[in-house]
Amino acid sequence: MRWSASRGRSGRPAHTARGAEAARGAEDGAGGRPGFRVKRSDVFARDEFTCIYCGRMPPEVELSVDHVEPRMRGGDNSSGNLVTACVACNRAKAGLAAWDYLAGRDEERARFLERATYVWPRLRAAIIEAAPEP
Ligand SMILES: [Zn+2]
Repeated sequence: MRWSASRGRSGRPAHTARGAEAARGAEDGAGGRPGFRVKRSDVFARDEFTCIYCGRMPPEVELSVDHVEPRMRGGDNSSGNLVTACVACNRAKAGLAAWDYLAGRDEERARFLERATYVWPRLRAAIIEAAPEP
């Protein structure tokens, strides 16, 4: 683990929720509130300042906001598509959708499904269906 908290988030502008990106708000209308702007602090508070993937908290890790369905794959900035992820998990996940990232990670997947009950149903379904049969 070579990334330290002191390196900050300067290297991953695509995953910071600010500026025009954050202002776009909910787009799909599937339960989202039009024009509602989700703040990073609100996402962190909802997730109890804990990484949804590995379960670690500051100061052990630095938190960031992750898109369950990546922006480049059509994911929006609605609350049902945003989760709290530490910088290490966010980096490991990179451009993958959560269901692709979690498919081979049983522990993280179980934690995600237990905690992220607010995620849009279609995204949860994708995560459940992506798991290999035991
Ligand atoms: Zn993590």
